Amino acid sequence: MPGFELFDHQEKQQVAEVMDQGFTFRYNFDGLRNDVWKARELEQLICQRLPVKHAHLVSSGTAALSTALAAAGIGAGDEVIVPPFTFVASVEAIVLAGAVPVFAEIDDTLTLSAAGIEAAITPRTRAVNFVHMCGTGGDMDAVKAVCDRHNLVLLEDACQATGATYKGQALGTIGQVGTFSFDSVKTISCGEGGAVLTNDERIHQNAHQYSDHGHDHIGNDRGAEDHPIMGTNYRISEMNAAVGVAQWQKLDRILEIQRANKAALKDALAQYDEVTFRRLTDPDGDNAGFLSIFLPTPARAQEVVRQLGDAGIGGVFYWYANNWHYLKNWPHIHAMHSSARLPIDLIKDRPDYSEIALPQSDELISRTVSFLIQLSWDEAEIEKRLAAFHTIFH
Ligand SMILES: *Cc1c(COP(=O)(O)O)cnc(C)c1O
Repeated sequence: MPGFELFDHQEKQQVAEVMDQGFTFRYNFDGLRNDVWKARELEQLICQRLPVKHAHLVSSGTAALSTALAAAGIGAGDEVIVPPFTFVASVEAIVLAGAVPVFAEIDDTLTLSAAGIEAAITPRTRAVNFVHMCGTGGDMDAVKAVCDRHNLVLLEDACQATGATYKGQALGTIGQVGTFSFDSVKTISCGEGGAVLTNDERIHQNAHQYSDHGHDHIGNDRGAEDHPIMGTNYRISEMNAAVGVAQWQKLDRILEIQRANKAALKDALAQYDEVTFRRLTDPDGDNAGFLSIFLPTPARAQEVVRQLGDAGIGGVFYWYANNWHYLKNWPHIHAMHSSARLPIDLIKDRPDYSEIALPQSDELISRTVSFLIQLSWDEAEIEKRLAAFHTIFH
């Protein structure tokens, strides 16, 4: 997945342009910048490629989630359905918005199922934070239909799925609003950065205003601008955007390498009876940043992970025991521990997060092993993995 593996003179050149002729602030200062506008340039590249009407860059994927929620009108007391298998930012953004995360079941796509969403809906549900984990999504037609039927905002967290599509449509552009992350380990890296994607004018307007103290961004005198709403500072810097301009132009190459490397591993694993694969709802649209398999039992999955480690194979993830990506391993979320009182503490009948039962998700994730697909692998790196598979899998 990591685009940083392809950093070269092109990223350096882009950053140098900002330092040599431009200015580090993304708005205004027209006289200082010699017409260098890297954030605007990257936004245009994203819009053309996906396509989507609006891509608004912010300082991180997490900031993009907070901005997307605020821009879509999700706030105090609103319930937002979220999966237990995700990066913790998905939950943090909801809590910091003053909203209430409601966990629902995933299925063998490793993403929220339409049935899981439906079962978690209450009269207070306002949105679904659908996370396209590990490079691809789920049954998006069914998910969209449930959201539409119940009048819910579909927010797609495509932070791990840049470049992925579902039936030809870019992930992140199916719902009312979507997000990308461009942090250091994502498919495209700006160093730090993120984007809010939408075809909705009102959401776009709220997003650019919210992420820059409510500025309306009309004219070229920042001091004279109006502030239609309150906001905060989630701006990206021109230097981060510049890295992204170079990276974005490598997206096709990144996808091509990932898909070839993933296919080599997947073809080899297909011959073992005990290995089954994550269900892909659109195999051609997978960004191929990860390969995820199921083993028959949790014990066997743990044994395989140990054996792969012993064989010196890196980039192997057993999410069920890893404290980054699964609700079971987040005691601070169970207790809603923070440094200060949270809005959710004022909600009397909020869920007890230490008591969340998601047996179907547990059953799947406890048998799931994922391989990070790297861009830098040569033939020997792939051969090393196939040889290890040969001794480990039955
Ligand atoms: C990385 C990630 C984020 C957060 O992105 P940052 O840029 O690191 O803030 C959010 N959601 C998912 C699913 C992610 O993988």
